[in-house]
Amino acid sequence: MFKDFVSNTAMLVSSFYVMGQLFKNRPLLATSPLSTKLYWGISYGILGNILMIFSIKISTTTIADLRHLVIVLAAAFGGFIPAMVASALIVIGRFLHFGYSDAALFASIGMLFIGIISSGIARLNYNLTIKAFFMNLIGLFILTIVFTINIEDPIVLKKLLIMHYIFSLTGGFIAYHFSVFIAHSNENQRKLKNSLIELKETQHKLEKSNERLNQLSYVDGLTGVGNRRYFDTKLEKAWLHAQSNQVPISLLMFDIDFFKKYNDTYGHLTGDYCLQTIAQAIKNLVTEDSGYTLCRYGGEEFSLIMPAANQENAEQFAAQIKKTVKELNIPHINSEIAETVTLSIGSASFIPGPAAKPEDLIRLADEALYTSKTKGRNTISVL
Ligand code: GH3
Ligand code: MG
Ligand code: MG
Repeated sequence: MFKDFVSNTAMLVSSFYVMGQLFKNRPLLATSPLSTKLYWGISYGILGNILMIFSIKISTTTIADLRHLVIVLAAAFGGFIPAMVASALIVIGRFLHFGYSDAALFASIGMLFIGIISSGIARLNYNLTIKAFFMNLIGLFILTIVFTINIEDPIVLKKLLIMHYIFSLTGGFIAYHFSVFIAHSNENQRKLKNSLIELKETQHKLEKSNERLNQLSYVDGLTGVGNRRYFDTKLEKAWLHAQSNQVPISLLMFDIDFFKKYNDTYGHLTGDYCLQTIAQAIKNLVTEDSGYTLCRYGGEEFSLIMPAANQENAEQFAAQIKKTVKELNIPHINSEIAETVTLSIGSASFIPGPAAKPEDLIRLADEALYTSKTKGRNTISVL
């Protein structure tokens, strides 16, 4: 009898470990969804049946095992539904495995009572460990009645009850604490997993906002084209490419004519709008596959970096810009050279030698722009 009780206890505890692993992500709590309670109830019921199969035979009709602990734990962790599902499956199993007998009937009634009373205790507002202990005690009390009815031999009855109490109390203690331990470690694992997911999401968001911040730090706030920083990085890159591949690179610098007078005449806000309109119109001329980069170089001065473009390409594009601005037809009554806003353009192109620097190209384009200004503005100069 002692050996059988030991194996029953071992089976009970090890089965809880397996169930804990199976339902890792579906913890059994009073607040769990119905499906979770049903899964656990069925598993507890199956476990009760396994314990019954390996039960201790007292007589041809009476068996003893720790199956009531399964119902107690189902009630302690999940309340009424898993407890009743487990007890119902145990009752069905009792009749299926061992056939109908009065002993089986009393035992089954006892199991249902244990389920109902344990579910009731589960609802009380006490510490879970205390409630589980009381459920176990009441279960044992009900089983004492069942065994007293079913077993006639007082010596056998006494021996069985002593064993049952010892193993139920120690087995119940181990099984309960083991279940709590598994539930806690599963919960910690879930928390860790969720924290890792959150961490990854935050990291992703951070990368995105960094990317966005980086983009913003390269954009001119007023016109939306590249800013001076962007101009410097882009020119450096294009320059190195042209230098190492010995291909031409061109740079256009253009500046709005008499823009101070424009501001004085129409106000600073209209001046801003004029800068935006011109920048946008020129940006629309630049196709993505051209590789050209439009930037606001400063104030009312813009630049266009033209990788792989020779002098002829640059001149043609400058003419297009001039034409586009003319077509914008922005009135400028105080311009000394036209009735609308105009640009002066300087163009510089060359294949950079090994000692040449990007500043050389900027200086050349700037000189060309200055030439256009001195020549009377609204014109293109090439160097
Ligand atoms: P020039 O034909 O020789 O280029 O004459 P200009 O008046 O255009 O040149 P100047 O350098 O004397 O004046 C540039 C003007 O551009 C002065 C400044 O107020 C204006 N400006 C610079 N940045 C902005 C801006 O962001 N918004 C507006 N509205 N005006 C600006
Ligand atoms: Mg100007
Ligand atoms: Mg200027």
